[in-house]
Amino acid sequence: MLRVEGLRKSFGGREVLRGIDLAVAPGEVVVIIGPSGCGKSTLLRCLNHLEQPTAGRVWFREELVGSRDEGGRLLPRPEAEVDRQRARIGMVFQRFNLFPHMTALGNVIEAPIRVKGMAREQAEALALRLLGRVGLLDRKDEYPARLSGGQQQRVAIARALAMEPEVMLFDEPTSALDPELADEVLQVMQDLAREGMTMLVVTHEMGFAREVAHRVGVMDAGLVIEQGPPSLIFTTPTQPRTREFLRKVL
Ligand code: ADP
Ligand code: MG
Repeated sequence: MLRVEGLRKSFGGREVLRGIDLAVAPGEVVVIIGPSGCGKSTLLRCLNHLEQPTAGRVWFREELVGSRDEGGRLLPRPEAEVDRQRARIGMVFQRFNLFPHMTALGNVIEAPIRVKGMAREQAEALALRLLGRVGLLDRKDEYPARLSGGQQQRVAIARALAMEPEVMLFDEPTSALDPELADEVLQVMQDLAREGMTMLVVTHEMGFAREVAHRVGVMDAGLVIEQGPPSLIFTTPTQPRTREFLRKVL
């Protein structure tokens, strides 16, 4: 579904991603862990055209994200193509990015109507189904300010799902939430995983990683230093940096 080869990204002179290799198969849940500042968000942002990689290749299905000139240098993609690819990749961020002036329902129907040209009636039917799925049907007419952080994040998930994405990227979706609110969001993510959604999840929730991830990738200083099933990563990590990180978070 997603394949990253030798992905590099520099800001100014500083290389933040130093050659990332990673693949996510259809239906697979891959959790990325690693210390703050190691490049996790930048990796996700490169997958969704929010950052332009400095070098390397990114495949989404069989499409290359980013094109190249004859010298192999990366060129910006045409806007229309970027939009088309983005529509197939759902993303949920740490901070709830709901439109504050729209109700929960309004937030969920917005993209299907505006981007996909879906009829309002059809978009509403879809949105009601998705709000039901994240347990918020009874809050559909509330504005974000009147929802808890956990509820806002669940609306954000419903909103991303409304575009019927082929893969969902999560960037620390619960790290701004109190534990009990985090749990309701993690439950929704777990349900989504059970239903077979392909997911790439950056999180510090080690319980979620243990229970839900098919594979855990450990990042450190711009590299994926090791990856494997959670049963191995959490019990017998091979890299000293992984052991050090796990000692701090477990
Ligand atoms: P993580 O998500 O693992 O905490 P990030 O990907 O957010 O790490 O950041 C990795 C490094 O890149 C950090 O040192 C951060 O300061 C730097 N960085 C991220 N985005 C930018 C940017 N737009 N400009 C300059 N530096 C950035
Ligand atoms: Mg981050």
